[in-house]
Amino acid sequence: MTGGFELRETGSKGVGVFAAKPFAENDVIFEEKPIVSAQFCWNEAYGYYACHHCLKPMESVEENVRRLTANTSVVVPFPELCVTDKTNQVFCGACGVGFCSEVCKTSADQQYHNLLCPGKLPAMVHLVETWKRMHYPPETTSISLIARVIAMIESAADRETLVQNLMSFSHEATDESSGLCLLQGRDDEDKIKTLQALIQETIPINHAQSFVSEDGLRSLFALIGRNGQGIGTSVFSEWVKAIEKKEMSAEERESVDSFIDTAYANMNEHVGSFLNCEGSGLYKLQRCVNHSCQPNATINFPCSDHTLVLEATCPIAPGEEICISYLDECMLERSRHTRNKTLKEFYLFECKCDKCIAQSDQPDVTSEEDSDEEEDDEDMES
Ligand SMILES: [Zn+2]
Ligand SMILES: [Zn+2]
Ligand SMILES: [Zn+2]
Repeated sequence: MTGGFELRETGSKGVGVFAAKPFAENDVIFEEKPIVSAQFCWNEAYGYYACHHCLKPMESVEENVRRLTANTSVVVPFPELCVTDKTNQVFCGACGVGFCSEVCKTSADQQYHNLLCPGKLPAMVHLVETWKRMHYPPETTSISLIARVIAMIESAADRETLVQNLMSFSHEATDESSGLCLLQGRDDEDKIKTLQALIQETIPINHAQSFVSEDGLRSLFALIGRNGQGIGTSVFSEWVKAIEKKEMSAEERESVDSFIDTAYANMNEHVGSFLNCEGSGLYKLQRCVNHSCQPNATINFPCSDHTLVLEATCPIAPGEEICISYLDECMLERSRHTRNKTLKEFYLFECKCDKCIAQSDQPDVTSEEDSDEEEDDEDMES
């Protein structure tokens, strides 16, 4: 396999990614585009304006800062460092959605948009609205992603290969995982039934019938719940990175740094932590990267679109397994018991990484901070 890594059977964890050459900190291990991706529905509804296909931001940095701070008079310095190139942007003539380029529009049209375009299929709007009432932010997946998978199977020239690719992702719907994507209520079964009926009614399907049966849809939800990778893009953070690299006088630097601090503070006040265009996707290689509570790699989106990059966070020797963390920074600091409770709930496995083994003598109780939170949760429910 090219690129300095190989896929290998690990036994208990299934396939894993292993280094085939030494990697230094910050080295790129691989880069890949998703089989399918989509922006989250509320993220799109709230005006986070991204390419309908690849999630590249469609706004200029100034439009972005103005929207996120609710201040229409902000003037962003060094506008030439903005990465958004509007000259190539194109729009769907039937529904008006935007694409960063003709390439993205053509891919979308061929793969799913010809079938799902709400300009030709107005009922799509109702499907999305029904979903939005079931799944509020913070979002973890979207009905758009499910609809795209179905439309891709329906429209694919090489349907067999696509289905094989999709079925290589873990997709068994167990009691614990059937409603993983919805996660926001105890009536996930009802929600799946409602969505299934609506999808059958909305999308004209000849070839993908087995995927929109109740069981088919349940395993599609399980597949996306267990393998979906979050994607975040931001024209402002790209601009900040470009500013950091630009040579300028100390005086200019001070003034632009203070502009950035103020902008972030005002964004925080207006939109909190929702700064990015957000969505999720399915990645063929990334799904093989296992979890460790002491990861040696991380996932980034340096092109500010759905192109995923796996990057080393420390030196990695040939033969070593390359792992990322499925848990966020804050959860990684929690006790072994708490980490594993989350991993079991969301990913259906118990972690046996070096850190977990080293902490195996820790008692099976949640740490004080965690049990406080659980009490809070109970208070809220009662
Ligand atoms: Zn694009
Ligand atoms: Zn359209
Ligand atoms: Zn672990």
